[in-house]
Amino acid sequence: MIAYHEARMKGGVGMIMTEVHCVHPTYMPLGRAWASNDDCLPGLKRLGQKGRDYGVKVIGQVFHPGRVAAASIDGTKMVAYAPSEVPDEIYKTVPTPLTTDLIKEIVTSHGDGAARMAEAGLDGVEIISSMGYLASQFINPRLNRRTDEYGGSFENRMRFVREVAADIRAKVGNDKILGLRISADEMDEEGLTMEESSAACAALDEDGVLDYLNIVLGSTATYTGWQHIIPHMQYDAGYTGKKSGELKSAVKRLPVMIAGRINQPQIAEEIVASGQADLVGIVRGHIADPEFVNKARESRTDDIRACIACDQACIGHRLKGFAISCIQHPETGRELDFYDKPKVETPRKVLVVGGGPGGMKAAAVAAERGHDVTLMEKAPHLGGQALIAQLLPGRTEFGGIVTNLTRECEIHGVTIRKNTEVTKEIIAAEAPDVVIMATGAVEQRPDLEGMDQTHVVDAWAVAKGTANVGGKVVVYDWHANWIGLGVAEKLARDGCSVRLCVNGPMPGEHLPMMVRDGWMGQLHKFGVEVIPYARLYGADDTSVFMQHVTSGEPIICDDVETLVLAAPHKREAGLWEELYGTGVELHLIGDALAPRTAEEAVLEGLRAGFEV
Ligand SMILES: Cc1cc2nc3c(=O)[nH]c(=O)nc-3n(C[C@H](O)[C@H](O)[C@H](O)COP(=O)(O)OP(=O)(O)OC[C@H]3O[C@@H](n4cnc5c(N)ncnc54)[C@H](O)[C@@H]3O)c2cc1C
Ligand code: SF4
Repeated sequence: MIAYHEARMKGGVGMIMTEVHCVHPTYMPLGRAWASNDDCLPGLKRLGQKGRDYGVKVIGQVFHPGRVAAASIDGTKMVAYAPSEVPDEIYKTVPTPLTTDLIKEIVTSHGDGAARMAEAGLDGVEIISSMGYLASQFINPRLNRRTDEYGGSFENRMRFVREVAADIRAKVGNDKILGLRISADEMDEEGLTMEESSAACAALDEDGVLDYLNIVLGSTATYTGWQHIIPHMQYDAGYTGKKSGELKSAVKRLPVMIAGRINQPQIAEEIVASGQADLVGIVRGHIADPEFVNKARESRTDDIRACIACDQACIGHRLKGFAISCIQHPETGRELDFYDKPKVETPRKVLVVGGGPGGMKAAAVAAERGHDVTLMEKAPHLGGQALIAQLLPGRTEFGGIVTNLTRECEIHGVTIRKNTEVTKEIIAAEAPDVVIMATGAVEQRPDLEGMDQTHVVDAWAVAKGTANVGGKVVVYDWHANWIGLGVAEKLARDGCSVRLCVNGPMPGEHLPMMVRDGWMGQLHKFGVEVIPYARLYGADDTSVFMQHVTSGEPIICDDVETLVLAAPHKREAGLWEELYGTGVELHLIGDALAPRTAEEAVLEGLRAGFEV
């Protein structure tokens, strides 16, 4: 974690907010940072020292989720404590109302956690009152139905957050920075509204205890609210600025920061210049490019590896309980192994075969380390399957991975030869010291009856718009990822009647929840019928035959004009097989090794670039 932050400190950031630190035993799950006892001191001290080494302010976040009890210590469901018994839509908790004694204990534990952060040498503390967490639940009249001094009137509903702020200030003194994070709008029916958040911020502004407000959108308690926590690429870059602008107009004294979907310095500049916020917070932009600030400062904006808001390796990993990374920059989360790229003593002649995400990353890293690198791509454009991925509805920004990796190859001096299909003969003629094989994957038809009929088409052709598709379509979605969802939406938008048969419990099962949930909303809007747990069995002229994956009972779709196949991909490893055992040093990466996603391809490209 410290190596992660140090990379961003070197990259030029002015201030770092840590992740949330749990402060009270009523929420102490595994895998979260804690500030609830002195065991946190040595680590926080090292972090604080790093901040001073680089002249970067470090702010620790103090946190209690209330009813949003997302995780647990041992797999059992935790008791969720909240102001009142209002269930949480996402985590399915029915909270136990806090007693006044417990409220006072949790208030004090925020102050104690903050005091530890101050003792460890952090520059300040931020209260988490955002995203539907405990402090926000107290402010919200729909979630706080108490009749004691913590509920009812506005003043009573503000009591918890004010007591937390006062306790922290009393314990850390006036020299430390004290901020508050709050959602300007929790963007769902039961969440805090703009008016309510603005009123809370105006009151806190007048109290004079805080030093800044850190604004976000959304709530973790509902499906719609989650869409705005870490907004995916279907939300416009910088859209959060408008909301912070509205909230800022309610505040007289406190500086207002905004975070969320700000992935380029131009967007940050626009937000600040237009007065929508005084400061800008950038999270994923720094996960994707730790050097974001330095590059912006040096006007090297084209060199910034802009976050494409895919939510895959950052929040996607986190939701699965793994450390965060980035599909475009797998060095993130692996700084101890890959931050420094030592130059090689003896440069080698490296040939990279295939200009998809994996090949481009391998080429860029090998060249950065000083090798003489040529990348050959048989198509007229670099990008591989990412060029198809970007054609799905709402996924244009996925193409940013191609722009960014192409730029990395340019910066590090990779020689690129397009329209060049590499063969055994070309390799013999080029005589490289080492070959990195990144030839990717292709589609293949399942070995089932009826798959060679003219009305059976492949998903990639549908994405490219080259397939001849009738009005009544069945999409067979083996992957349960972007492809089935994307082609189903595309065809429904084109006016087709679409049945999406998925080989699992739901389409998008293997996607980060906010991407899947947003997409499911689109399919619902366009009237796509979803048939889960379906395994393809075969097809005839007008019917598609499937089997329920557990009961084995038939699922038959009649009156079908086109069957679209999103079937398992096949690795393109023919050239590798020809060369294997001939004495050529070979590295096989990405989908050519096993068809998966861009994330693994780019990570394996990074590793290959280090190994050669
Ligand atoms: C519609 C669609 C949507 C997707 N969406 C996502 C997504 O949202 N997120 C995600 O992470 N992944 C997604 N994927 C998967 C992802 O695109 C692939 O996993 C990734 O591109 C694999 O990268 P790669 O470099 O290993 O191979 P590829 O991208 O397949 O690139 C291989 C390249 O090698 C070239 N090549 C092959 N043989 C030769 C040869 N002999 N000589 C020269 N060149 C050769 C090919 O032309 C190709 O350009 C999607 C895939 C599809 C089809
Ligand atoms: S994984 Fe995707 S969303 Fe996350 S930081 Fe990287 S590019 Fe951005």
